[in-house]
Amino acid sequence: MKIQMKTPLVEMDGDEMTRVLWQWIKEILICPHVDLKTEYYDLGLVNRDKTLDKVTIESAEATKKYGVAVKCATITPNAQRVEEYNLKQMWKSPNGTIRRILDGTVFRAPIIAEGITPYVHGWKKPIVLARHAYGDIYSSVEDKVKKGEKAYIVICDKDGKEVRRQLIQSFDDDGIVQGVHNLDGSIKSFAQSCFNYALENNLSVWFGAKDTISKVYDHRFKDIFNEVYSADYEEKFKAKGLYFMYTLIDDVVARVMRSEGGMLWVCKNYDGDVMSDMVATAYGSLGMMTSVLVSPDGKYEYEAAHGTVTRHYYRHMSGESTSTNSVATIFAWTGALKKRGELDGISDLCEFADRLERATITTIEEGYMTGDLIPLFHREGITPVKLDSKQFLLKIAEKL
Ligand code: NAP
Ligand code: MG
Repeated sequence: MKIQMKTPLVEMDGDEMTRVLWQWIKEILICPHVDLKTEYYDLGLVNRDKTLDKVTIESAEATKKYGVAVKCATITPNAQRVEEYNLKQMWKSPNGTIRRILDGTVFRAPIIAEGITPYVHGWKKPIVLARHAYGDIYSSVEDKVKKGEKAYIVICDKDGKEVRRQLIQSFDDDGIVQGVHNLDGSIKSFAQSCFNYALENNLSVWFGAKDTISKVYDHRFKDIFNEVYSADYEEKFKAKGLYFMYTLIDDVVARVMRSEGGMLWVCKNYDGDVMSDMVATAYGSLGMMTSVLVSPDGKYEYEAAHGTVTRHYYRHMSGESTSTNSVATIFAWTGALKKRGELDGISDLCEFADRLERATITTIEEGYMTGDLIPLFHREGITPVKLDSKQFLLKIAEKL
């Protein structure tokens, strides 16, 4: 008998090659074992355009209602996509929209398999990276300044009356200026999301910023993290043998390189943008990187960290076979099923998700994988075999 579910998962379908994999994963790996219950939202670009992007907002609202979502990669349209899909508008990034509605933090974690060696040889355990997704340069105001002009920070009260003013620079040459901001509330919910995730996943937390240079701005991040930690988390961390460490961002970078991994690395917005790509690359393939958006009130949206793998899709559409890595998308499903099982008290569902993860990893460890992993795979006595997208899923199903 198939495993029964209680609450539906919010299912967000997507675009291109990952949309193809999405159907196959359900058909080949999940539906034979689970009586899958989902509330389906088609976030494919065609339907986003048709619904004037309302479907994205509805899917995020549904995530707030049910608590757990699984999302396929989606196209963020640019000018070329507007033409390709004859779009009514250059719709915003669905991930951005969902993140704004859930006010969440994104955690990215590599999937580790024996034989796929990270470029940094010391890294034995996953380094999970949390990126603050609000403010700083991502909502900055910038301007070019002419020689002889002056730039100030001016603070006004709620009626617009000036209360403080600081000179940024009196320009004796042409130059540039930038104004950035953040909010205590956003930093605080970021800290809470990070500490909750770390407790749930048994990870210590490393956070670095540049408070020695940025004595007010970055220092505020440091203070809020310390306050939140000592007020609500220190005891719980200690009870589990975990810790929180704040140090300078440069020091964190050095320590991460020397470490064996296995921590949650918390980054400010820009640091997270840059470092997540570095960490992902160092662990091997984008196809092995999962991502989960966690809101401060405990709503979860699981996805792969990579995009829609466009080049593979065009090849697929022209009838060629592709060897696209589905691991991160499989893990998005298992993450969501496991969380749903936990919340609804269905241990069979959690066990199934674990089994599917193990079957996936074992398939790779025994030498069966997609093309992206072949050059990375080194294991005594095993010559890796390259499978196409569907063969790989069928091989996992055999194991399962
Ligand atoms: P991408 O889809 O991640 O692909 C970049 C390249 O990385 C691919 O061409 C492929 O290299 C390799 N790759 C990524 N995932 C792979 C996988 N699972 N298996 C094998 N190879 C993989 O990023 P992109 O080309 O920059 O973006 C394509 C579309 O995805 C864009 O429309 C973008 O807006 C969207 N996107 C969506 C999300 C999201 O929904 N979260 C995230 C990023 C991008 P080779 O072609 O060399 O094999
Ligand atoms: Mg980046």
